[in-house]
Amino acid sequence: QSTLTSTSKDAYPDWKPGEPVPYAALCTTFSKIEMTTKRLEILALCAAFLRQVLRLTPEDLLPTVLLMIGKLAADYSGIELGIGESLIMKAIGETTGRSLKIIKEDQQKIGDLGLVAAKSRQNQPTMFKPKPLTVRGVHEGLMKIATVEGQGSQQRKVDGIKKLLSSADVSLAKGQTVDINKDKGGPSESKFIIRALEGKMRLGLADKNLQVALSHAIVAHEVSKDGKKVPTEADLKKGEEVFKSVYNELPAYEVIVPALLKGGIWNLHETCKLQPGVPLKPMLAKPTKSIGEVLDRFEGKDFTCEYKYDGERAQIHFVAHDAGQEFAATEAPKEGKSDRGVSNIFSRNSEDLSKKYPDILAKLPTWVKEGTMSFVLDCETVAWDVEKKHVLPFQQLMTRKKKDVKTEDIKVKVCVFAFDLLYLNGEALVNKPFRERRDLMYGALEPVEGEFAFAQYGNTREIEEIQTLLEDSVKASCEGLMVKMLDGVESHYEPSRRSQNWLKVKKDYLSGAGDSLDLVVLGAYYGKGKRTSVYGAFHLACYNPEKEMYETVCNIGTGFSEVLLNELYETLSPLVIDRPKPFYDHSMGKNDQPDVWFEPQYVWEVKTADLTLSPRYRAASSGFGSDGTHKGVSLRFPRFIRVRDDKKPEAATSSKQVAEMYRAQETVGKEKKTGVDDD
Ligand code: ATP
Repeated sequence: QSTLTSTSKDAYPDWKPGEPVPYAALCTTFSKIEMTTKRLEILALCAAFLRQVLRLTPEDLLPTVLLMIGKLAADYSGIELGIGESLIMKAIGETTGRSLKIIKEDQQKIGDLGLVAAKSRQNQPTMFKPKPLTVRGVHEGLMKIATVEGQGSQQRKVDGIKKLLSSADVSLAKGQTVDINKDKGGPSESKFIIRALEGKMRLGLADKNLQVALSHAIVAHEVSKDGKKVPTEADLKKGEEVFKSVYNELPAYEVIVPALLKGGIWNLHETCKLQPGVPLKPMLAKPTKSIGEVLDRFEGKDFTCEYKYDGERAQIHFVAHDAGQEFAATEAPKEGKSDRGVSNIFSRNSEDLSKKYPDILAKLPTWVKEGTMSFVLDCETVAWDVEKKHVLPFQQLMTRKKKDVKTEDIKVKVCVFAFDLLYLNGEALVNKPFRERRDLMYGALEPVEGEFAFAQYGNTREIEEIQTLLEDSVKASCEGLMVKMLDGVESHYEPSRRSQNWLKVKKDYLSGAGDSLDLVVLGAYYGKGKRTSVYGAFHLACYNPEKEMYETVCNIGTGFSEVLLNELYETLSPLVIDRPKPFYDHSMGKNDQPDVWFEPQYVWEVKTADLTLSPRYRAASSGFGSDGTHKGVSLRFPRFIRVRDDKKPEAATSSKQVAEMYRAQETVGKEKKTGVDDD
């Protein structure tokens, strides 16, 4: 079955052309999506709905798309939901007149705040019939909730939630009931509003699926304008490719959707291009176990070995005043404005880092050679010892304040190491060979000691020379090497991809310890003996982006100092929740429950001796426990390394990566050649 089969059917009959998209219509589709796990069905339902939006109310396409993926705006805007449970419960109570005690009891019993809200609305007598919710209204309402700041903002958030909830489920209020025990609670609007507020829609509708569904809907819509009934598979495939390649360079529905509506999909390459101001998702690397593996992988090809700096990924965007082009979509921050031009700096997650690194933005114009009009540069910022003139450990960088940094107060100086150029003087370079991109980078920018440098590298295929480079990189306080293809299509920059064409060789791998994992803290156990007043061990999980679930992977109690445990208690105890979230996939075993559960917020880097299968954990269990054994991958002898403040929970090590690590280890155990599949 393809998305074609249902594109001709309307997903929701009671909405007239030109009318704002009814939120109830979207929730009906969500509910159908929720009832299936089949990817093609999910895509078909989603595409059919988007097609109806295109036909009836195209001006609502953008808010519809955003609500489908549970976002309010592109990542770089910094606007996001993820409202804590206590505020949501308060709002449900105040809207429905039920006491907080009863809401909490319900939450204890049901375990899903969305269903608690649906149930609370259902039992509520209504005096008057509120106006039904619309997609644009819900998007606007959520936006207000996400962006209120300052004094009294918590209460204003609660008020915003109340406003939405009191107009939700009008039909339920009329007496039609939805059984929360059936069909996962059905198309209840309250349920999906709460999920949006929690920041997890759990529909299996990740960004990648939406890109496919939207491109299919647009293709079908355009083909129907030409009088054809349905597009061919080839039309759909072509549309999908166009959309994905544009989105990779410009991951912003705010820019793409208006362009699609105006110029259609076949012109999208022309109307939407990589632009300074809109960060693209960084290319990521695959781990390798040995230099020998690198040589096997890149056999017969030219490659380069760069130092792998241990700091924070930074994507720097710049446009000169006289470039004759705009800093697109986003306004450059005041820190990024200079006589020379405008600039900004984005994190690995596309967050705006201008308030963290005003010092970098202030110095940047001095690194730009004359004639360089605009660029996007991929870099690592590293803490720098000004006197001894060398790189400092990652931990030093993490002591810098994250926001509202004043240049005069900065204690930890940073040096920027650039390793790739993605855009230069009005032209995207991502589809050029790396050798060429690197040459252009050297031609466009000027190193300044202790401020800006190019990543050190060596182009060699000799194992001894690579070994020496690796040792030198470690002496220079780097983590190891990044090995990259130099020529041909394989050396193109692949945004958002964990690619075979970038391999990381960390010094730790060579001692057999393997790559570390970045895991989310979901729960904790109180300590024993001296540690009874703080947490002594923690329950950690990896992330499954397809399912939007955190899957438990280990308990950890090693690697923490007393001081650190005290600090962790301070930061984690405000995040305690009454019971695990419905998007935590954890063992139900009586002995496997931590003493407390947390909101998912912190990511920790953890090392492990090896990986094993265990019925107590759920990581990657859909791959390993499908034979009925219900086993997940888990870590043996995990050890805490550091808090990863630069990673959001969704950027934690994925279940797929955990499965790959487990399989690679198994193969090594059997002394076969390892092979890591591409994502
Ligand atoms: P992941 O690869 O899962 O994102 P991570 O964020 O922990 O994991 P690493 O596994 O340490 O990252 O390796 C990739 C990171 O190394 C890049 O995201 C970048 O921040 C950093 N890095 C340092 N030097 C380089 C370089 N020369 N080329 C590319 N990346 C580099």
